[in-house]
Amino acid sequence: MDGNFQKSRREMVKIIREDYGFKDERVLEVLLKVPRHEFVPKKSRNIAHDDTPVDIGYGQTMSQPYTVAEMTNLLIAKSEKLKAERVLEVGTGSGYQAAILSHFFDEVYTVEVIPQLSHLARNNLSRLGYKNVFTKLGSGEWGWKKHAPFDAIIVTAGVDKVPQELFEQLKVRGILVAPVGKGYDKTMTRYTKIKKLRKEEMKKEEFGTFHFVPFVKEKR
Ligand code: SAH
Repeated sequence: MDGNFQKSRREMVKIIREDYGFKDERVLEVLLKVPRHEFVPKKSRNIAHDDTPVDIGYGQTMSQPYTVAEMTNLLIAKSEKLKAERVLEVGTGSGYQAAILSHFFDEVYTVEVIPQLSHLARNNLSRLGYKNVFTKLGSGEWGWKKHAPFDAIIVTAGVDKVPQELFEQLKVRGILVAPVGKGYDKTMTRYTKIKKLRKEEMKKEEFGTFHFVPFVKEKR
């Protein structure tokens, strides 16, 4: 059984490398290791490694494998050492992206707004032995102040604009990657916090259009 999943995982990596022209071997190596089928509902295991988002219930989907690869690359491409200290993820889903990040960061903090998904992710990650991933139930709008500042922040739901609090919880030279824009189409955007004289600013770079489930705003 697991042999079949390994075969489909190799196929998934081949598509990302050859069809999309994705070149970061460090990311491809980790995509080969993490058992994506363990993060999807049992009934969808046969499509776990397909080049498509997968329904994880509660109106949410797990991002397409290529999107996970691309966002991970944008987040780590500029890190000086491979293991940067801490990353914050907004939108845990069932925990797949968090598992990928745990190979690149010493500590992964991840926040999810839907209780059942947060619970599911916690179970998935502990069953598979990911010890450096810490989950929390709540809205990612407020980041996770207790563990800030972060070396990197990744937002995995589409936002109209990045919540200000997230920029504040980023270190100087830290990187934030998020799908940003109005409507269904989002522009993959990377922000780098820079300090000029005494003033902090966010440098912005854009990397094409992606589709994402929308960010849920908490009612206050
Ligand atoms: N990172 C996940 C992607 C899941 S899809 C993966 O690896 O597959 C995006 C997730 O963001 C959904 O689970 C959704 O419930 C969650 N989400 C949406 N708005 C949020 C918010 N305000 N705070 C935290 N999580 C949010």
